[in-house]
Amino acid sequence: MTRFVESTITFPYKRSLGPVIGAFMSALTDKRILGIRNGAEVIVPPMEWDPRTGAELAPDFVEVGPAGTVESWTWVPAPSVQHPLDRPFAFAFIRLDGANTPMFHAIDATSPEAMADGMRVAPRWRGVREGRINDIVCFVPGEQSEVEGTDAGAQIEPVVLMEYLASITYVNPVSPTLDRVVDASRERRLLGQQCPVCGRIYAGGRGHCPIDAVVFGIDDDLDLPQTGTITNFAIVTPTQYPGQTETEPFVRAFVLLDGVEVVLGYQPVVELPYTDVRVGQRVAAVWASPAEAVDTGGQMGGTFGQLIGWMPNGEPDIENPDLVNRIF
Ligand SMILES: [Zn+2]
Repeated sequence: MTRFVESTITFPYKRSLGPVIGAFMSALTDKRILGIRNGAEVIVPPMEWDPRTGAELAPDFVEVGPAGTVESWTWVPAPSVQHPLDRPFAFAFIRLDGANTPMFHAIDATSPEAMADGMRVAPRWRGVREGRINDIVCFVPGEQSEVEGTDAGAQIEPVVLMEYLASITYVNPVSPTLDRVVDASRERRLLGQQCPVCGRIYAGGRGHCPIDAVVFGIDDDLDLPQTGTITNFAIVTPTQYPGQTETEPFVRAFVLLDGVEVVLGYQPVVELPYTDVRVGQRVAAVWASPAEAVDTGGQMGGTFGQLIGWMPNGEPDIENPDLVNRIF
């Protein structure tokens, strides 16, 4: 039976909003929606440049809405955690009164039957507003704005930065090959697969040869050497984003295994300060003791199973200028 591994990747960022988006976000905290004048038109949300010509727009803001008219919509029957509402709702293009362009937002309607092009909607504001687009929880049918909970009032300080945490969760099947590689690692064996067609050897549990499209079976397994040479490395200086557990610079190295044309990418080094890592350095695999169970499942690089990383094995460096070209 195929196993699956669920992974979540999150990446935070901050962006400075600038004079136009900053003014828009600041006004949201005061329950006001601003557009920007572009000739005879009013663009909402405001843009810094004319979308047709690219010409810079003067910061000539116009308050619009807050009510508006639905121009088009789509129903979301099963919201995900990242949607603005936790129950079925509509996404819609809403042209706020006084605007010439529609704004994209959610509408809290009871059913698709409650939705129609041309219907009137008004914002439901968050009680505590921070200068984000979701200061508007959603729009609701009718002419009347509302506030969710107690109205905490406008922010005094202008909103100049937006902090955002993007997050994606995905599920990958684990190939039987990777299962065997992880099982072998519990016995401190580095298992690879040799393509029966082209003879290339792969590590890391890849389940097929990408050149011949051969799916590997158990007969293609072979034990790989546990010594190799560093061909390339990167020093990673961690920034303290959420979930980052490293605080000091660390190395990810590419290791060319002895006697096989296999390069393992993004390998940790052990008992080797990042300032001392060199191309040509000889290293050997370091395995976790059975007590220190690790399974990083690193199909896309990194270690796998009980392999912790690589440490110097005391042999003299290999002098070969071609090593630096070996990253695959
Ligand atoms: Zn092949």
